[in-house]
Amino acid sequence: MVAPRGAGGNRLGPEPTGPATASLHEPRGAVSAPRRTADTIRRVSVTVVDNALAGHLLTQLRNERTPPPVFRTLAKRLALTLTIEAIRDLPTAEVEVQTPLEPATGKILGDLVAVPILRAGLGMLEAVTELFPEVAVGYIGLERDEASLQPQSYYRKLPPVEGRNVLVLDPMLATGGSGSAATAAVKEGRPASIRFVCVVSAPEGLKKMEADHPDVPIFTAAIDRQLNEHGYILPGLGDFGDRLFGT
Ligand code: URA
Repeated sequence: MVAPRGAGGNRLGPEPTGPATASLHEPRGAVSAPRRTADTIRRVSVTVVDNALAGHLLTQLRNERTPPPVFRTLAKRLALTLTIEAIRDLPTAEVEVQTPLEPATGKILGDLVAVPILRAGLGMLEAVTELFPEVAVGYIGLERDEASLQPQSYYRKLPPVEGRNVLVLDPMLATGGSGSAATAAVKEGRPASIRFVCVVSAPEGLKKMEADHPDVPIFTAAIDRQLNEHGYILPGLGDFGDRLFGT
């Protein structure tokens, strides 16, 4: 089942919070068969943030002619869009403030921790720090062990996450190996919640996250077709880190 979500996010997975009236990637009210992933990803919550702005930014990111300086700016803007959706239902505390006229009751967000997966996740970090200057930031570096093909951690520096809400940032959810390993590392610190934010996801990565972390909702601008034999997402946008840093 797929439910529209907020400002242009379509959600699939358990417990949809809105009316189930739209299919994935279809305008509201359009009738068409859900994509294959909508049929097969059931246990994990996946929100596809496919509003007009997100689509516009993603298309430029996909374009191979977009040079690194522009790519960095676009990546940050799209990460802003995704982050706003990802924190939509974070717990807030009620506070009272004094306006120039009278007291007013409002909401403030609780503690937030951002954990970019090195190195490509750095391209999404500034969006979060700009929205929440008080965010605590941790880093996880993972590389593939060529013998086991499993992700190995080469760097981990996490602030205390116990009882806090964590955003794991990784632009390309490809095989899901790094995403799953990073999520497992964050879970060791007993956070209140984890949300996984990525720019593009592959069905393979979504399935891996669903198998390993069905409790972690995923926010993505697109679910692409598949991985190629080298683990790159198709159509994807190439190597996010290379395009970000011009390497
Ligand atoms: N990482 C990338 O940067 N791009 C992909 O397509 C897959 C993983």
